[in-house]
Amino acid sequence: MSAGPTEAVVDLRAFRANLDHIRRVIAPARLMVVLKADAYGHGRLRMARAAVAAGITDLGALDLDTALALRAGGIGEQVRLLAWLYPPEEDFAAAAEARVDLGVSSVEEVRRIAAAAGSVASRLHLKIDTGLNRNGARAEDWPALVRAALEAQAAGSVEVHGVWTHIAEASEEDDTIALQRFEHAVREAEALGARFAVRHLAASSAGLRRADVRFEMVRMGGHCWGIPSFDGVTPREIGLEPVLTLRSEVSAIRTGADGGPRAVVPAGYAQGVPVVAAGRVSVSVRGRRRPVLEVHRDRIEIGLDGADGGDVRRGDPVVLFGTGDSGEQTVREWGDAIGTLGDEIVTRIPARVPRRYVD
Ligand SMILES: *Cc1c(COP(=O)(O)O)cnc(C)c1O
Repeated sequence: MSAGPTEAVVDLRAFRANLDHIRRVIAPARLMVVLKADAYGHGRLRMARAAVAAGITDLGALDLDTALALRAGGIGEQVRLLAWLYPPEEDFAAAAEARVDLGVSSVEEVRRIAAAAGSVASRLHLKIDTGLNRNGARAEDWPALVRAALEAQAAGSVEVHGVWTHIAEASEEDDTIALQRFEHAVREAEALGARFAVRHLAASSAGLRRADVRFEMVRMGGHCWGIPSFDGVTPREIGLEPVLTLRSEVSAIRTGADGGPRAVVPAGYAQGVPVVAAGRVSVSVRGRRRPVLEVHRDRIEIGLDGADGGDVRRGDPVVLFGTGDSGEQTVREWGDAIGTLGDEIVTRIPARVPRRYVD
């Protein structure tokens, strides 16, 4: 069965341009490219290789399986890989073996990692919760975590390398409070004898906006793909280019129940178009925006107005979302129109939609 005409085109040149722009803005802090969720649907191994070829030395994997898959795919040990979310029965010996850095949030995790240590000590990044309540040690548990990590380091089974947190990036005030909690936790750990080679707190939004949250490293996903995480801006306004374009073509012209002409495009919710996009977003055909009227499993129907409906033909290329260069909306605009994040839309384009990499 043919995959059909719907494809996600991933522009590696745009990706590199984003990395260059972000690195210029955040210097001297370095950039960790976060590749979770299959690099937000862009393809983790291809994006990892492109990032490394562009000089990136830190990749964020979220889970150990992703980190191990990247190592197996040829991402060598000169590139630091960080994992931080573990199932209960995680095999930490495999992490040490593959030289994957580990985020740790609890004494229990430190003990399991130390117990699994072989000839190489795992590099740890101690994580403090600064208000997000999404992993990270709570303030009252922090000294015990630091002590456990230092003890394991003294025994030679781990190396305390980094300290970090994750922040909401929803308001300046909340981020400032999180920053203060982070700095407090770092001082507390240092008073207990910890020395950190790297401190990291910010992701896309705060990392691009605020110098005071960057420390030695910023972890970014969204902005690397050219998807703004601030409200009300286009990618270009913040120096970024969308990397992924979702394309298809007109498969039929028909008359809708309302008597108006419609184009049928074989990209529906099974290809990642959100059902709630109906009536809210547009796509570009022949350089003009046309409204998406209906979203079905394997197709959308778009409205053609009487004036030019007759020009649109079967086989005409359709850009669902992309850079905006062909008149289409960006995925950020789609997200705004349907009340979600652009990141979520690209992340949910299923594997059955082929990715085509262009350079
Ligand atoms: C997903 C994630 C990031 C990247 O977030 P963006 O907003 O996409 O830049 C950074 N840090 C952690 C811990 C994450 O889970």
